[in-house]
Amino acid sequence: MPEVKSVDEVLLARVQADPATGRAIPDAATGETIGYAPEQAIVEVDVAVAAAKAAQREWDELGHAVRSKLLHAAADAVDANAEALARLLSREQGKPLDGPNARFEVGACVTWLRSAATTVLEPQVLIDSDTDHAVLTYRALGVVAAIGPWNWPLMIAIWQIAPALRMGNTVVVKPSEYTPLSVLALVDVLNEVLPPGVLVPVVSSDREVGARLAAHPDIDKVMFTGSTATGRRIVEASSANLARLTLELGGNDAGIVLPDADPKAIAEDLFWGAFINTGQTCAALKRLYVHESIHDEVIDALAGVVRRMPMGCGLDPGNVLGPLQNAAQFDIVARLVEDAEARGGRVVVGGEPAPELGANFFRATIIADLTDGVALVDQEQFGPVLPVVRYTDVEDAIASANGLDAGLGASVWSSDRVAARAVAARLRAGTVWINSHGTLHPEVPFGGVKKSGYGLEFGVEGLKSVAEPRIVSG
Ligand code: NAD
Repeated sequence: MPEVKSVDEVLLARVQADPATGRAIPDAATGETIGYAPEQAIVEVDVAVAAAKAAQREWDELGHAVRSKLLHAAADAVDANAEALARLLSREQGKPLDGPNARFEVGACVTWLRSAATTVLEPQVLIDSDTDHAVLTYRALGVVAAIGPWNWPLMIAIWQIAPALRMGNTVVVKPSEYTPLSVLALVDVLNEVLPPGVLVPVVSSDREVGARLAAHPDIDKVMFTGSTATGRRIVEASSANLARLTLELGGNDAGIVLPDADPKAIAEDLFWGAFINTGQTCAALKRLYVHESIHDEVIDALAGVVRRMPMGCGLDPGNVLGPLQNAAQFDIVARLVEDAEARGGRVVVGGEPAPELGANFFRATIIADLTDGVALVDQEQFGPVLPVVRYTDVEDAIASANGLDAGLGASVWSSDRVAARAVAARLRAGTVWINSHGTLHPEVPFGGVKKSGYGLEFGVEGLKSVAEPRIVSG
């Protein structure tokens, strides 16, 4: 009997390297090798950038209508391979197929591709009088480097790639060393319809490869999503090539629950705000400030939701929580929980690894009775653990929310939308949600303030960020 391969194995076979030369990539849940990623050398960055540079002019000259059509065709290709991509992503990244996870992420790739295809960046007439006329238009920048993280590897790659291509740039993609195979597969699927050289991957576990790409003299723009530490290095690199930058960096989003919130009504949305992608999400709820009058009820309702959410291997149907993607991240989470307990934190639910599920699993955890100054509150945990801080005066909660360097997202929870908006207006974050956290829309710009980065993605603002402004005056 010939061996029957699953759809993701067929897709993987298209992109993976020879085991003799490639790097073994583990399944995040089981640790078994799922495939082999090519290991490209630094010199291959130069080859990739040269290919993208050579293809750029022709791609730009195709014009918006043709590029838009090709982006829709690319979305169709992703749609046609959705299950294969989702399964590969689930194994490599760890996120379950079900829930707002792997299938959801591939669906978001299709949505954001179509949004980039249909959004129009109109010329802006600045002055139009008898004597003066000035118009602001936008054109391609050139070659864009798309450097991504391991948490939402496909969706974030598309956020970087799709607007850049739409505006007539070509793109060199550098996936995280932890999730190269699923991004390579996505690029391969997109390249079923894109002309050669328009989208070129560079894959390596050597972080110098990313550094070389960001510093390359022929890179005109770096779209970077990742840690604040790496973001700083990219800023330094840009002093030489003057590449434009969009930096989406880490977050430590606060949520403030006002005294009039309904604990039972908000519990499930609070849960997903914090635990989406098993907490490994830049704009997840990472510290929760709850008014003392409803503190215990909120904790009870939230813990009830946590207890009924299944965690396990991503391919097993029904699971909505998975492992930490890698051992290093597991260690960060375990250390922060241990420290929080030592400093008076009370574990309401979870609080420990789940070794029966696999080495990288940590139970979904709520820790109460914490204060600012404890590392679990002050640092980004990036895992399935939510610290809860009780407050008496909302002024203190606002001061705490604004008290850290990070400023990606924040949220306010209340039965009174007007009161919530008044608090929201005082929070320093790129996005402040009311009665939800982390919900994104392809036409609504997204970006951080403070040390969470700069530049906006999505919609018209996202197209501007991968374009060069030109004013024609007179
Ligand atoms: P990371 O900074 O370690 O790596 C990100 C990417 O940068 C990888 O592809 C890596 O190979 C590459 N890289 C490493 N050194 C480089 C260098 N010197 N120059 C150029 N590229 C280099 O981040 P990570 O651990 O993969 O991601 C987790 C972090 O990303 C978290 O802090 C999270 O909050 C953040 N994040 C932010 C957003 C957002 O939209 N703001 C989204 C997702 C993740």
